[in-house]
Amino acid sequence: RDYTPRAIDISYTEGSGDKQWSSTHFAWTKELEANNKRVFGNRSFRPNQREIINATMSGNDVFVLMPTGGGKSLTYQLPALICNGVTLVVSPLVSLIQDQIMHLLQANISAAYLSASMEWSEQQEILRELMSPTCTYKLLYVTPEKIAKSDALLRQLENLYSRGHLSRIVIDEAHCVSQWGHDFRPDYQHLGILKQKFPQTPVLALTATATASVKEDVVQVLGLANCIIFRQSFNRPNLRYFVWPKTKKCLEDIHNFIHANHNKECGIIYCLSRMDCEKVAAKLREYGHKASHYHGSMDPEDRANIQKQWSKDRINIICATVAFGMGINKPDVRFVIHHSLPKSIEGYHQECGRAGRDSQLSSCVLFYNYSDYIRLKHMVTQGFAEQGTSAPRGGSSQEQALETHKENLLRMVSYCENDVDCRRLLQLIHFGEMFNPSCCAKTCDNCLKELRWVEKDVTNIARQLVDLVMMTKQTYSTTHILEVYRGSVNQNVKKHRHDTLSLHGAGKHLAKGEAARILRHLVIEEILIEDVKKSENYGSVSSVLKTNHKKSGDLLSGKHNVVLKFPTPEKAPKMGVLDESSVPRINKTNQQSQVDGSLAAELYEALQCLR
Ligand code: ADP
Ligand code: MG
Ligand code: ZN
Repeated sequence: RDYTPRAIDISYTEGSGDKQWSSTHFAWTKELEANNKRVFGNRSFRPNQREIINATMSGNDVFVLMPTGGGKSLTYQLPALICNGVTLVVSPLVSLIQDQIMHLLQANISAAYLSASMEWSEQQEILRELMSPTCTYKLLYVTPEKIAKSDALLRQLENLYSRGHLSRIVIDEAHCVSQWGHDFRPDYQHLGILKQKFPQTPVLALTATATASVKEDVVQVLGLANCIIFRQSFNRPNLRYFVWPKTKKCLEDIHNFIHANHNKECGIIYCLSRMDCEKVAAKLREYGHKASHYHGSMDPEDRANIQKQWSKDRINIICATVAFGMGINKPDVRFVIHHSLPKSIEGYHQECGRAGRDSQLSSCVLFYNYSDYIRLKHMVTQGFAEQGTSAPRGGSSQEQALETHKENLLRMVSYCENDVDCRRLLQLIHFGEMFNPSCCAKTCDNCLKELRWVEKDVTNIARQLVDLVMMTKQTYSTTHILEVYRGSVNQNVKKHRHDTLSLHGAGKHLAKGEAARILRHLVIEEILIEDVKKSENYGSVSSVLKTNHKKSGDLLSGKHNVVLKFPTPEKAPKMGVLDESSVPRINKTNQQSQVDGSLAAELYEALQCLR
């Protein structure tokens, strides 16, 4: 049937709240539901899937923010199947594409891919098939460098377009467009050409990274001025989050944790370097686990082999660099352990998101120490130094990108060092989502602590912070404001001459993390706003703090006070010897609900011992 979209003039911004997209009276509804069952074997749609499909099939540009595992692929594979013509899918990694194609072919859907690493003759054959009037392909996957560098492909697409056969353009993992995101890929920056060349073809951009700055960047670069945006909660209720101190016993702690909670179950351990991957895997094998390493400098054949053994449960633990896992479709990953600090909160959220895709309880444990931050920062800086001037954008935007990476890292450090606030709240706030910590129901380490609280009036500190944001003309990031307030004398503060401000060092006396909590509270209360700043340099974005005129006015004029809860100081926890019975153990019989109360207390006890 012909579902060629007739463009409807819509300029909504938030589609999620719009009822029209959930209607079951679209021309294609019956066919959609039938194919969802018959071809994909799904009993129903997951949240937002129907709405997204209806919006894109109505001919709109659509931008989807959905957590990893939410089911983004179906929102373009199903339309591709029931629409005439070919759907072009841009996806960042060949391994990701191969995984998808395998699933499509299993479902009898004709699909192909083009990548620069393929034989030229093979590529020619695919392009020829694409042009033939009897072309059977429903989906054509390409890596972004094909669009950026292959004129031949663009010409073929133009041909398809002119014949009305280019039915949809999909940009998967769209956050790769943004330098502000955690996984920037320069070739994604060229994808704006697609909307320019094929203005009538609807674009569907999908990502699991949803900070305001990334969203802005993606919409701008891809040219999706009037797109409909679907966004859903990034909270993953079935994941439990823990941050533990990383000590010399880290590997023993990892073994104990797996042994007590996820013995013989499947998991991923993310490591910083290739050598770490190998060391951790070897040690876990000594402990009797079926573990293997996985990283970029391995033979592609070895890698594929390990991935296969893992998906068939012959190996249960993969010790990998972050290269592993994007798009990996294993539903029963029971734990994700970070052996070292992730590079950003988005990255962390996405890596954790690979656990528990089947909605069953799963654990995310992050081992943190400050020296990993120093190491990582060095690696990031080094990486930039090596790219040098050969990078596409030299000079100040290069510097800016480095700043972005450092800022992302610092946020991650501040997440780890926070031993008070709910981990979910801390993550979700980062994605611009509000979260009531009581909904965590003790499924993170901080909520598990039965802290006693005192209320403190911190109005004066709050006023100083707002003053400081205004003094510095509302052009600096959270991290920078905190540095100045706490009296840092580092390069960056000096460079902008902020060490001469009257409020420089005004927050020196505060306990570690306290100023950060108060500042974050001001953002939650919308007294301050985290905004996006674009520099003149095309595409370069950073986050800045601004004041909300009305609310900050109320604060400064004394109409509004800020009262925050602080934990009462406790005695340092006893260091206990770890024996079998005190290993952290998580209740699993209570699958759908939260960790059982008494066991939670036990777990907390055990965690204290680990500290
Ligand atoms: P994402 O790209 O958002 O991370 P995927 O598209 O890879 O997620 O889907 C994750 C898993 O969810 C896949 O195993 C997929 O088969 C499954 N899935 C998607 N939609 C449905 C549905 N409506 N019903 C059941 N399972 C689904
Ligand atoms: Mg996906
Ligand atoms: Zn919590």
